[in-house]
Amino acid sequence: MNKKLFVISGSSGVGKGTVLKKFLEKNPHFMLSISCTTRSPRPGEVDGVNYFFLTKEEFKNCIDNDKFLEWAEFAGNFYGTKQKYINQCLAEGKDIILEIDTQGALQVKKRMPEAVLIFICPPSLEELEHRLRGRKTEDEATIKKRLDAVKIELERAEKFDYRVVNDDLDRAVKELEEIIIGEQKC
Ligand code: ADP
Ligand code: 5GP
Repeated sequence: MNKKLFVISGSSGVGKGTVLKKFLEKNPHFMLSISCTTRSPRPGEVDGVNYFFLTKEEFKNCIDNDKFLEWAEFAGNFYGTKQKYINQCLAEGKDIILEIDTQGALQVKKRMPEAVLIFICPPSLEELEHRLRGRKTEDEATIKKRLDAVKIELERAEKFDYRVVNDDLDRAVKELEEIIIGEQKC
């Protein structure tokens, strides 16, 4: 079976983490890439598990030393994927999924055209805002920054290989599974 890099993006609060958690429970041989970020950990988040939490200086150092496959500034913080980490996973034959923002996803596609980009869409903009607020992890200023990004994210979604609407969770997970299994057969 072909080893491919799968990249999942979508606006903040659309349910990427929720969909992927369920997908990974059903498909435990897939690995979720651990990104670097300069944002502060949320309650319960663990360094080296959810993210590698870096200072701005450490992050800048990685940029200057060309350590990232891709990186982006999103809603006031920096996020990036280490090239070495992805190379190692692919060399070991692992099935790997990146959950990153739309700017990063398009950078990956440029550098690795065989990567498969999947955009998770909200059923409506109202529902997206409802989910983002309902999560209660961000303050009002951060929620606003994240909602401000939605329009351009939906425009970038046109460049993705697939779009999956996260309306009913189980249905969306099933559709994601079908896409990924189908791509692995190509
Ligand atoms: P993201 O990772 O895209 O920022 P999350 O996975 O944290 O989003 O989901 C944001 C909120 O939306 C969470 O409270 C989650 O429980 C909820 N959610 C996710 N998927 C659905 C769905 N299909 N229907 C209803 N609520 C959902
Ligand atoms: P959060 O702060 O909610 O964890 O993530 C905010 C956004 O950053 C989400 O869209 C998430 O997909 C994205 N993100 C997480 N890791 C990376 C990464 O390594 N690179 C890029 N470009 N975006 C990332």
